[in-house]
Amino acid sequence: MPSATPNLSMRMHPLFDSWDCTLPPLPKRSRLYALKPLGIGTPLVESLSGYVARLADAHAVSLGNLVGRELSALVANPLVHSFRTETGSDPHGFHARTYAINSFGEGTKRWVEALQAGTMQADLHFLTLLPFEHLLWPLAIFRHCRAWCAACYEDSRAQGKVVHESLLWALKMVTFCPRHRQPLEEACPHCSRRAKPITVYSRPGYCAMCQKWLGRHTPEGDRSTFKQHDAEAALWYAGAIGDLLAAAPRIEPTSLRGTFTANFRACVDSIAEGNKSAFAAAVGVHYETVYSLMTGRCLPSIPTLLRVSYYLKIPTISFLERDPAAAEAHWQEARGRVEKRRLPSSRASDAIRAALEQATSEQPPPRLSDVAQRLNYLKLDRLYRVDPKLCRQIASRYHDSVRGHRRKPSDKRFCSLSKMKRALEASLARELPAAAFYVALDLGFVSDLTLRRKFPDLCRKIQDKIDVQNALNIASMGRALKAALHEDPPPSLSQLCERLGCSRSVVLRGHFSALCDQLLERRSAYRVHQIETLRRRLRGLSLESPAVSLEKACKRVGLSRQRLVTLCPEESAAIVAHYDNSLRGRTMQRIAELDRQVRRIVGELHQEGKFPSIKRVTACLGESASHDWTAVPAMIKAAVSELNTRASDPPVIVLVLTGPPAESR
Ligand SMILES: [Zn+2]
Ligand SMILES: [Zn+2]
Repeated sequence: MPSATPNLSMRMHPLFDSWDCTLPPLPKRSRLYALKPLGIGTPLVESLSGYVARLADAHAVSLGNLVGRELSALVANPLVHSFRTETGSDPHGFHARTYAINSFGEGTKRWVEALQAGTMQADLHFLTLLPFEHLLWPLAIFRHCRAWCAACYEDSRAQGKVVHESLLWALKMVTFCPRHRQPLEEACPHCSRRAKPITVYSRPGYCAMCQKWLGRHTPEGDRSTFKQHDAEAALWYAGAIGDLLAAAPRIEPTSLRGTFTANFRACVDSIAEGNKSAFAAAVGVHYETVYSLMTGRCLPSIPTLLRVSYYLKIPTISFLERDPAAAEAHWQEARGRVEKRRLPSSRASDAIRAALEQATSEQPPPRLSDVAQRLNYLKLDRLYRVDPKLCRQIASRYHDSVRGHRRKPSDKRFCSLSKMKRALEASLARELPAAAFYVALDLGFVSDLTLRRKFPDLCRKIQDKIDVQNALNIASMGRALKAALHEDPPPSLSQLCERLGCSRSVVLRGHFSALCDQLLERRSAYRVHQIETLRRRLRGLSLESPAVSLEKACKRVGLSRQRLVTLCPEESAAIVAHYDNSLRGRTMQRIAELDRQVRRIVGELHQEGKFPSIKRVTACLGESASHDWTAVPAMIKAAVSELNTRASDPPVIVLVLTGPPAESR
């Protein structure tokens, strides 16, 4: 019988694992949609301006509102400056802009920073030219209107891809789409208007003015209007820039400039044998530009880069190649494209190498600079670029020939030890020994190293003797300086150097600067005193009678005119003034004497009843008056009128002046 009591034994519950109820770590959320930038590492990479427009479109707000009300505040220095209007409305403050935000300036960095803060996307700088910051010349890169490839838009929409704006389209030098091989468009096919690159209502694929779809496939007929050559160049440019943009994630921005300069130099060397003008003519740029790019003094502009690339058919990206061997292959391909006739045949690499090879076996060995001169080069860099190994060999041969060959262990010593010892002992025996260095030179060594190593004691003794002699010399210099301080007049430092046999006064100054200063002070006081004496003497001369001319004064004091005027300008002027006055006084005296004579002669002629003509009067005056012929007629006239006024009768003489006497003309 079954028991009525229930089974009281406890049912065992199965054991479950304990649950971890802590929340998994959630990655940080971005404030805006974290849209992935498109096409990084491809030629048709999205532009930053296009990314902003796409972001605004994704949030279903206008680009103006997104930038003005959201993005702008995410950076310390706001992207736009909003001003509240008087009516109290709250504008976003955004205005239409150029493509400059895709460039590499400070403004671009602020936009990238703001967008990275909003979307937490780290690669946004690849949507700009920031990776080429250290390479490209920053001006005139972008076009002023928005441009697009209508076929690219249409294809993206048809294939269900995200419509985006390519960075390539923003660049001025790009006029063709490399993918569809058709020109880019700037005018809307619906409203025919052109828009600024970034406007308040910009949307990828749509007109910013009429908001209609811009994508379409251009009919074949429209494409034939382009000249074959133009289209070819434009396509090359677009392809080259596309390659450059695609390479952006792989390049090292900081070393870009150095890499470019090295590659460009190698390119000119390889293609045009270093002939810059031939290279410049071949690629259609100025010689100076080629020179500046080779030396790294200036940055290449996009047009220059593209022109070089197009004319030589070298990919632009080969200039950024970090491996020189890889770049060399491109240069080799382009070698035939530079006109060889512009290059003197003697300057071709092969000719230079042949000349270098010949020089390595010449006797006596020539200098490398001689070889360069034969090839009409002033410097050696071109030779070194052609074959550095041969250049070093020539230089080394020449050095060996000048200095003597380097000694091999098997070589016989050219100077015996006993000869060295004798020479050193002879030097030591002299009252004024020659230093070990000069003894070594006499023996044919280039330095005193061997002598010092073999005969250290002798060398030391010689040096000690020289030191003692030097100390004595210095002491005698000091004595001479002290004696010179008491001399009158004190000698100048150069005079003292001459007496002591030292070449320059720095030797004296080095040991006795205080004494030298004292001597210079005394010398300067002496000079002041001399000038004062000179002044006194000149003042005396300026009062002398008869007056002394400045030339005579110079002779008397024994100085040149210029020196005298410089040292004593006032006294010199006084001498000149005194001399001029005395000359003037003498002339006036002579004129007065002449006047007296003329009056006397006129009176005498009048007494004799003769007419006082100029001829008669000057004949009586004699030779002395001949140079005053201009004054004599006036004097005669004055004398005659005086005679007339003295006489009460009517005028006795009617004067007819006929001009100067014949002999004085
Ligand atoms: Zn296209
Ligand atoms: Zn439109």
